[in-house]
Amino acid sequence: MAKSTDKTQNATNITKHSIKILAGNMPAKKEVPVKKTAKTSKTIAKITPLNYSSVIILRIGELFLKGKNRGVFEKRLISNIKYKLRNLDCTLKLQRNRYIITDFSDDIKGEIVKKVTSTFGLCSISVATCVQSTIDDIGTMAISLIPDNGSFRITANRGDKTFKYNSMELARELGGIILSAKKSQKVDLHTPKTELFVDVREEGVTYLYKDRILAPGGMPVGSAGKGLLLLSGGIDSPVAAHSMAKRGLALDALHFHSYPYTSQEAQDKVIELKKQLENYCDYMPLLMVPFTKIQEAINRHCNESYMIIIMRRIMMIIAKRVAFKRGASCIVNGESLAQVASQTLESLAVTNEAIGDFLVMRPLVGMDKNEIVEISKKIGTFDISIKPFEDCCTVFLPKSPITKPKLSLCQTEQARIPHLDALIDEAIDGIEIVK
Ligand code: ATP
Ligand code: MG
Repeated sequence: MAKSTDKTQNATNITKHSIKILAGNMPAKKEVPVKKTAKTSKTIAKITPLNYSSVIILRIGELFLKGKNRGVFEKRLISNIKYKLRNLDCTLKLQRNRYIITDFSDDIKGEIVKKVTSTFGLCSISVATCVQSTIDDIGTMAISLIPDNGSFRITANRGDKTFKYNSMELARELGGIILSAKKSQKVDLHTPKTELFVDVREEGVTYLYKDRILAPGGMPVGSAGKGLLLLSGGIDSPVAAHSMAKRGLALDALHFHSYPYTSQEAQDKVIELKKQLENYCDYMPLLMVPFTKIQEAINRHCNESYMIIIMRRIMMIIAKRVAFKRGASCIVNGESLAQVASQTLESLAVTNEAIGDFLVMRPLVGMDKNEIVEISKKIGTFDISIKPFEDCCTVFLPKSPITKPKLSLCQTEQARIPHLDALIDEAIDGIEIVK
């Protein structure tokens, strides 16, 4: 173990630098452009095992299937990882099919793991120990990673074909080394208490790790284009955001408020949701639409049972215009079939009609409320969503909203609102952006 202690000490001596991309052994055309500062080039030249003690291996998910377009997806993933790690002192290095994070101190390891395990496009990660590819170094480290008793299995992979043992031979050799150092250990290939993965890389270094931590999979945020999320303060729309971001959609969020009928706390709650969602969606600007005058006008001029459906049609009209302005190609909302009167088939149809064939994504349409609640707990939005602050939908709630609205009546009721176009223009002009 003396050797690895030396390495750790050496590792702490190296100059620290904030997140940067280093090209590993990938073909030149696949390299991500990096700013060729003197410092960066020097770091490339200096990559030796002594620079590492602990590394984090990132594995990509569905991107594997992307064939010729893979480069585009990978570029997006890399820039997303860089963005996530922007405030953490570490280096991201590219290797085929995966990335390695190096040069971080132990006290930020947990923070890095948290960030990368919420990055869409990654399927798993491992915190590994890195040693020089010599049987002595690998053996010494393997002994230190296997407990004194129990059972173990070595799963070896030789990427470096010049390494003197092949994968099977290496596993057998290490098994022998461990058995002679730990008398109470035994080999169990099928149900071992500890599985140690040993990965001999082309660059003359070997990674050893015991666990694979699951990352969320999906596609890198932004790789599927951009959508406009209708974000309320409820449980559903944050879950809808998470689902679409997972499929690679970047999002801007739009929230309608009816201040002063709705409180400042209700707006703060939506800002809190935005921040929590940014753990997954990366950067998601929030656009606050002043909706009070429109709600008052609906309340004054429309038939009570049609009020909600007219409100939802106008929300969609505004959302479509904002989507064009923001370069978003679809609207995303948290509607779920038959959840409330405005989400029956008939209601969804007349709500959609207000924006013609503009694409609307309803990722929760076939989900039960308790399934949605489960996800919202997992993604950390549930506790925020249940804070008791009303949003604009509930302020002017009619006693019995229509469940089977007629399109012709929607159009008649909507036409009763004087100067609706001007009110819509005013609402859009009044949008405030929370960055
Ligand atoms: P809940 O969890 O209480 O159902 P919700 O946000 O889903 O909350 P709904 O009345 O079901 O409330 O609204 C359906 C969808 O309409 C929401 O998921 C959201 O996408 C959108 N929406 C509702 N109110 C607003 C609002 N004030 N601002 C932006 N979008 C809204
Ligand atoms: Mg809902």
